[in-house]
Amino acid sequence: MIEENLKNVEQNIANACKRAGRNKEDVTLICVSKTKPKEMIEEAYAFGKREFGENKAQEMKEKCDGLPKDIKWHFIGHLQTNKVKYVVGRAFLIHSVDSLHLAQAIEAEGKKKDVISHILIEVNVAQEESKYGLKTEETLELVEQIAQMPHIKIEGLMTIAPFVDDPEENRDIFQKLRELSVDIDSKNIDNVSMSVLSMGMTNDYEVAIEEGATCVRVGTGIFGARDYSKK
Ligand SMILES: *Cc1c(COP(=O)(O)O)cnc(C)c1O
Repeated sequence: MIEENLKNVEQNIANACKRAGRNKEDVTLICVSKTKPKEMIEEAYAFGKREFGENKAQEMKEKCDGLPKDIKWHFIGHLQTNKVKYVVGRAFLIHSVDSLHLAQAIEAEGKKKDVISHILIEVNVAQEESKYGLKTEETLELVEQIAQMPHIKIEGLMTIAPFVDDPEENRDIFQKLRELSVDIDSKNIDNVSMSVLSMGMTNDYEVAIEEGATCVRVGTGIFGARDYSKK
């Protein structure tokens, strides 16, 4: 089933790239494996997948330590400062930095371990109250502050769009994140890249790609629905 789903998603990505006049190599598929067992990750790995997304620090740590070392782990969930120690030194990219306080904790842990953390700034473009992430207008200031930190490298922006029936409803959110990224990029801030745009999930990744996503985070579309009832 996983292999079938992956083929499907990859075909959809290729089609969306074609529509947008983009190369499919410029879009990274992150397989969101949160709540799913190692065996399912191994199945996707056997199919050639190397980039996986997790949203709980300890779960990512355990999977990272128990699976092949060439996997790139993307931390995509809300990160509490007391859990930063599980993630720094393991995550290939932390997608969800949304406060100075959190960045300071990542910086301190990076200094201790002598590693640089690559991060994205999470922006709550849709201004949903239930979601984490900065307001659009607060983003530049935080980027400028984090740019000073020697153990953090900003690579771009991330957003989580609302769950909607029609993915077209999220198109303007993706456009706004892209515009913000172009705007920040034009300031040429030292130690800051805006090359990554992490946006789009199972429900709306094709629209996100048409609007410039370089990373899409797909869980359900690859591994099936998640079951939270056992926890
Ligand atoms: C769970 C999750 C996803 C994947 O969601 P699906 O709808 O299952 O594709 C993507 N991004 C984040 C931040 C998530 O928490």
